[in-house]
Amino acid sequence: MKIILLGPPGAGKGTQAKLISEKYTIPHISTGDIFRKNISEKTTLGVKAKEYMDKGLLVPDELTIDLVKDRLSESDCKNGFLLDGFPRTVKQAEALEDFLRINNQKIDTALLIDVPGKLIFERMTGRRVCPACGASYHVKFNPPKIEGKCDACGSDIVQRKDDAEETVRDRITVYEKQTQPLVEYYNSKDQLFVVDGTQSIEEVFNTISNYMGSKK
Ligand code: ADP
Ligand code: ADP
Ligand code: ZN
Repeated sequence: MKIILLGPPGAGKGTQAKLISEKYTIPHISTGDIFRKNISEKTTLGVKAKEYMDKGLLVPDELTIDLVKDRLSESDCKNGFLLDGFPRTVKQAEALEDFLRINNQKIDTALLIDVPGKLIFERMTGRRVCPACGASYHVKFNPPKIEGKCDACGSDIVQRKDDAEETVRDRITVYEKQTQPLVEYYNSKDQLFVVDGTQSIEEVFNTISNYMGSKK
């Protein structure tokens, strides 16, 4: 199964990606997580990516596309994958399509987690993440069992620098301008499924699972 997760920042892509990748045993590929890992390891890519991420801007396509192609070429992606946060531009979507076409493949579904702008703010400013395993929590909607600690691995959870209010505003604008056109892109190819992201985490997951089940 080859799935893409679309949606504004804070829609719940990362949260659902963890659940979906466990259920279908496919790798969860988050370009944001890959960039953050490179930043913490101070690699050349990390140093470059940080400049853009801190401002809420997209990392340039040239850097992002090659990274994803390399990741998709690894053996664990043979039976499918779940892309979280990629593609984010039409150019990235076209590059992905070309890459898959070479092997006679295409994505099964682009899942759009639809959340109106006014809810995004509260979701993002209340988000806390685990730097060790990538799990995402919310101070109000999805708190960890022990305050400040990741349920999955026990590490201290933190607020992402780019989840500060000023940056969130810029990221929403960037989404509307650069990523939203992908909704029509996948719709016109009959690959789009829209799920109401204002439901609870469990309800969103159930809707997605039922849909994926009906496609088999
Ligand atoms: P994204 O990867 O799309 O940016 P996340 O999965 O990190 O989004 O979720 C953003 C924030 O909203 C997190 O704090 C998460 O715990 C919370 N969240 C995710 N899904 C829901 C939901 N259905 N209802 C309420 N809060 C949610
Ligand atoms: P969110 O979960 O809130 O949507 P991500 O973790 O996916 O955020 O992304 C964080 C940042 O990483 C983005 O604001 C952007 O700077 C960079 N990034 C992630 N994926 C991409 C991509 N496909 N293209 C360009 N930049 C990206
Ligand atoms: Zn963790």
